[in-house]
Amino acid sequence: MERITQVEVGLGDRAYPIDIGSGLLTQAGQGLTGVLRGKKVLIVTNGIVNHHWGAPLRRSLEEAGFSVAITEIPDGETHKRIETVASLYDACVAARLNRTSAIIALGGGIVGDVAGFLAATYMRGIDFVQVPTTLLSQVDSSVGGKVGVNHRDGKNLIGAFYQPKRVIIDTDTLSTLPVREVRAGYGEVIKTALLGDPDLFAFLETAGADVLRLDAAALRRVVAACCRAKAGVVEQDEREAGIRAILNLGHTFGHALETLTHYQTYRHGEAVAVGLIAACRLAQTVLGLPETVTDRVRRLVQAADLPVRFPAFSAEEWRKALAMDKKNQDDQVTFIVPAAIGQSLVRADIPLSLALAVIHEMTE
Ligand code: NAD
Ligand code: MG
Repeated sequence: MERITQVEVGLGDRAYPIDIGSGLLTQAGQGLTGVLRGKKVLIVTNGIVNHHWGAPLRRSLEEAGFSVAITEIPDGETHKRIETVASLYDACVAARLNRTSAIIALGGGIVGDVAGFLAATYMRGIDFVQVPTTLLSQVDSSVGGKVGVNHRDGKNLIGAFYQPKRVIIDTDTLSTLPVREVRAGYGEVIKTALLGDPDLFAFLETAGADVLRLDAAALRRVVAACCRAKAGVVEQDEREAGIRAILNLGHTFGHALETLTHYQTYRHGEAVAVGLIAACRLAQTVLGLPETVTDRVRRLVQAADLPVRFPAFSAEEWRKALAMDKKNQDDQVTFIVPAAIGQSLVRADIPLSLALAVIHEMTE
């Protein structure tokens, strides 16, 4: 029996479907026939992902009549930079890509962001397809059209909004992903549930362990719910003029923690996970969120072996790190605070002292 869930991202003439299921890599070629303008594609991936998943994707594309070139970028956030894109332009020229060719990103969020920026800019924009292979990229980064690279002075400073023609999510690819990466991606899953999907939250409370051990049906259910939730927000505010900011629930604290630890200690999803607990505690103070909600969020975070407390830094260090958050207008730090499970608010009027008090209480 076919088990594919399809989620539509409704963006007018830039609308596209997300296919989610097990075994989809081997059907990718068939699925892209009639979707892409031409027959020439360049797969952008990295060495690890290519080793595990490059061959079946290539075979499927070739069987469907596509002419396939494949190129690897080095692994790691330090290579998410403009020099990497420059070398990819060379690969595009060498592969003789033209206006009707397509770029296919096969990998995690880094490959997706870099390859998407390449697709957005090569010949002023060619067809782009996302084939995300980390849980984080399946539930978050492959949806919504933000593409780009880091500058030496800041993350994601260079980029574009560029929607793919299709997103193909084969949950089987997670079978080779390191456990720590699965758990980190799960931090963003908890975020999405808390943000806008009470049913997903309840599902995680009963079946979270199935997701973490990569049960195919549980994964399909969860990935689809996350894509649907993110698509819903992006449809309202594609270019982050307003409401899209709520996707940053837990991120004000999380980014500060990543800054303080120089992006060396925590995976992004780990920092977000502890940040979610902090956002709940802050909401207890400013919105009267019941403590039971915070407890339920903490239980989900703990069950995934994600951090529930902050390491020790001085109030001054925290203040500086929080004030660097890019969402800030002037000196005011913006926090996203849950009003209930499934509903969050963007607030720019919360005194930093309250956030610092929460961090103090949560410091080990
Ligand atoms: P990543 O791309 O670095 O992947 C994590 C690690 O897993 C890497 O070592 C990678 O090589 C490896 N890997 C990937 N798939 C694998 C597989 N199936 N089997 C084995 N190993 C595999 O990290 P990530 O967490 O996927 O993405 C992080 C990036 O995403 C950051 O740069 C972040 O800024 C970006 N991001 C973008 C958006 C967006 O909207 N565009 C949203 C969130 C995050
Ligand atoms: Mg995030």
